[in-house]
Amino acid sequence: MYQEVHTSHIPARAHAREVAELLRRFELGARGRSGVPYETFRDEVMPVFGHDLLVLKPEVDDYTFIHYGQHIIRYVGASRLQGRVSGMAPQVARFTIDCCNRALDEGHALYTVHRSLSTVRVSMWERLIMPATTADGSRLLVVFSRPLQFHEELLTTVLETSLSGIVALRAIRDEAGQVERMVIITANRRAASIAGGADRDPVDGDARTALPFLAEPTIWRRCLTVLEQKRPDMIETFFLRDGDEVWLQIAVAPLGDGLVLTITDVSELTVANQTLKSRAAMLALEIGRERATRRALSQEIGQREQREQELRRLAETDPLTALLNRRSFTEKAHAAMALCEENQTDIALIVVDLDHFKAVNDSHGHPAGDAVIRAFADVLLGLVRADRDLVGRFGGEEFAILLPGAGLGAARRTALRIQEALASRHLPVSEVLALQVSASLGVAARQGAEPLSDLVERADRALYRAKSEGRSCIRLADPDVSAAA
Ligand code: GH3
Ligand code: MG
Ligand code: MG
Repeated sequence: MYQEVHTSHIPARAHAREVAELLRRFELGARGRSGVPYETFRDEVMPVFGHDLLVLKPEVDDYTFIHYGQHIIRYVGASRLQGRVSGMAPQVARFTIDCCNRALDEGHALYTVHRSLSTVRVSMWERLIMPATTADGSRLLVVFSRPLQFHEELLTTVLETSLSGIVALRAIRDEAGQVERMVIITANRRAASIAGGADRDPVDGDARTALPFLAEPTIWRRCLTVLEQKRPDMIETFFLRDGDEVWLQIAVAPLGDGLVLTITDVSELTVANQTLKSRAAMLALEIGRERATRRALSQEIGQREQREQELRRLAETDPLTALLNRRSFTEKAHAAMALCEENQTDIALIVVDLDHFKAVNDSHGHPAGDAVIRAFADVLLGLVRADRDLVGRFGGEEFAILLPGAGLGAARRTALRIQEALASRHLPVSEVLALQVSASLGVAARQGAEPLSDLVERADRALYRAKSEGRSCIRLADPDVSAAA
């Protein structure tokens, strides 16, 4: 333990101005080894210096405190009045007893400095130990005792300039060692203003009364946990001060048998945070709304595209049979022929016309004729390759089938299958009527780079021949358009 003991140059060594003044008065009244006459000295110094003084009565190798100054109580955190020096921390007690013995033995004042081990607030103390003798001859010691001013000033400066509230608490325990309450042993002004009691000095007050946010049971329990486990904690809480919500961040650290609380008012931050959060929520809402709008818009666009596709499909499609109409058949046939030319593959065309169709209409009515045309379209679709062949309705009861990849022979076989299909079945007209029809077919295979119009013309001529040669038959086109003409 750090310690100094001096009998000379005391005013120069002392930090507190009071030391020099007390020493002067002691030396004025000292009478050799007995020190000063106690009663006179006491009456003279108590009124002025009493708060910083201890008076010790000798026991056997020990001393009893018969006066314990108010300021010392505050620094130490408790009064030792009527207690023994031996009750202090062992090293401090030993040092104090030795110094007192020496002052009594030698009859002069001692100036000492030592490091205290147990007090919460300060660690270095200076003392002026002065022997005295009472009127009845008993010996006493009058001891000026003060934390070293330097430390106190530093502490005060740190405390008072801190933007945080700083509070030191000391645990008051019952006989079983349980913490009954905590007492504030130091607090800066900021702490008092945060707690809402700027006009009252919270020191010596009960912690939970002076600092209302500690009264909340969960917060109090966390403080006790820090105290018992000697492990710091960071608490965020709020309390109502004059009806306003005050948000606090409290760093709780253990110190001796007590705590140090560093309290920061984060209300403004919390409010700013809450504002940001609500703004973020509003933004999210707006983004959500915009997304919904965009979704609706893209649905609308999708639907429009679907409608457009549908319209396009309708424009390409023959309404009665859902086959390609003549215009779109021609367009697609041009594209298919270009592809075959590129790939140097064959392509062939069949044109089909139902025989004596006028008679169907005449006998069964126009709607029945429609039903036959529809059913025949289905027959055609069932006989071609859906992925490549084109089937179109050229008008009336005349149809065209373009067969990419097919030469004249393959096209003829397809034509035969059409004929066979018609020969082998009746086409459904209504639930009670089915009709058998025949067709005449003209087949032409593309010659070299022949245009579609020539191909169609040759196939048409072949069909015409089929009609004129008895109907219900297949005729192959002449290879040459002009020759055929
Ligand atoms: P063929 O071809 O064997 O020479 O005799 P046809 O009676 O089939 O020939 P024509 O060209 O003289 O008559 C075609 C008939 O087809 C005339 C018309 O009333 C009928 N027709 C044309 N388009 C439709 C249609 O969309 N629905 C119905 N029900 N009949 C149609
Ligand atoms: Mg016909
Ligand atoms: Mg016709």
